[in-house]
Amino acid sequence: MVGLTLAAKLIATEQQIEFPLSISIDNQAAIVSGERFHSGPGAYLSLKFQKLLRAVKWSNPHYDITVRWVPGHEGVHGNEEVDKAAKVAAEGLHRSSPRASLPKYLRNGPLPLSIAALKQAHRAQIQARWTRIWPSSPRFQRLQEIEPNAPNRSFLKLTAQYSKRLTSLIISLCTRHIPLNQHLHRLTKVDSPHCPHCPQTEETIHHYLFACPQYQRERHILSCALGRKSTSLPHLLAASEAIPHLARFVNATRCMKPMLGEISLPST
Ligand SMILES: [Zn+2]
Repeated sequence: MVGLTLAAKLIATEQQIEFPLSISIDNQAAIVSGERFHSGPGAYLSLKFQKLLRAVKWSNPHYDITVRWVPGHEGVHGNEEVDKAAKVAAEGLHRSSPRASLPKYLRNGPLPLSIAALKQAHRAQIQARWTRIWPSSPRFQRLQEIEPNAPNRSFLKLTAQYSKRLTSLIISLCTRHIPLNQHLHRLTKVDSPHCPHCPQTEETIHHYLFACPQYQRERHILSCALGRKSTSLPHLLAASEAIPHLARFVNATRCMKPMLGEISLPST
């Protein structure tokens, strides 16, 4: 857009203009935004461009200017000269145009940055950083075994319909950060890693869901609903039809109530 305004400025300050003229540019977005009013970032530049061309039009009855899209500036007369001039200008400020000959809005150092564009760039940067770091996390491997999709868009879409408590339960089970004694003991929150109902047996997720005799009745209900798949943790955590039954099981055992409260079931 700055290039377009500079071209218009050159035309406007030229003493003798011969029409028709064309401005060649290899950026389609700049052409589109130079043509009509828009309110996005850099809109003031396209307004300057339009204003300069209007002034040229007003003082020249034979006004005939076309803005062309030329990929890579190929075959454009003057392109070589422009390239040379640009290289010279890039050598340093001392080789650039004198400040006074620039349009006013280009005299004060860098152009103002768009907040929206900055936010977008920041978000893209965080996303790229996360994508790089996440696979080296120990939780990545565990989560992959259970839910290869997590936490990408389809996983977020699946959990979007769940309450916060239910999502929190699923994430806790996936990451094994769950209020069961084995984990709590590792965090030194409880004295023993053992199941309160089974001495000498660690209260792991597996023990809680599939083995502890204390929850036999609840497990029977789960297995009636899901059949053999009720013994597969990946199925319980990733299949949308299994999630409500898993939530019912957890509610019925009352084991995690002090930490997670009553988990509301997804509406199906
Ligand atoms: Zn037990």
